[in-house]
Amino acid sequence: MTSGDQDSRRAERAGDHPGVPDAFERLWTPHRMVYVGGQDKPEDDGEAACPFCRTPSRSDEDGLVVHRGASAYVVLNLYPYNPGHLLVCPYRHVADLTELTDDERDEVGALTATAMRVVRGVSAPDGFNLGMNQGAVAGAGIAAHLHQHVVPRWNGDSNFLPVVARTKALPQVLGETRDLLAAAWAAATAPEGI
Ligand SMILES: [Zn+2]
Repeated sequence: MTSGDQDSRRAERAGDHPGVPDAFERLWTPHRMVYVGGQDKPEDDGEAACPFCRTPSRSDEDGLVVHRGASAYVVLNLYPYNPGHLLVCPYRHVADLTELTDDERDEVGALTATAMRVVRGVSAPDGFNLGMNQGAVAGAGIAAHLHQHVVPRWNGDSNFLPVVARTKALPQVLGETRDLLAAAWAAATAPEGI
């Protein structure tokens, strides 16, 4: 191995991404291993340490952002349950659905519906899981900042073997998945005739 190879490698902080760790171990994800090491777990609930607050300041590509709305944005989950697992997040650092303004709540709902249409157009899932975990006790990985999960589901996707079979491909295609969904989103929401 040359020194050039070493220089080309870069450790990336998982805490800089809007991932929501879940109960499913994914040992193939280097970001996850960093997370398990504790380096990127937010030390407090403040906005400075919050990946959902930091992500909008990154480029779409670096932040895995699929779409930016007026009061909320859509991003790929760094810890996907399935390919195309999206999160709809308000820009504001609020924890609870009741803290959103009417406009924010409306947009989170609208973006969730558009996310379903876009993912259906791209990868034809058989169904979806939608949901918000409110509070750490309910399973929220980043409890301080509200996020709506949009998880495409395929028949048989919870089987052990398909999960194993994806173990190497999935982390490598996160960027490609973002590109695909962002392009599909733009096409799906473009005014007629443009
Ligand atoms: Zn936040």
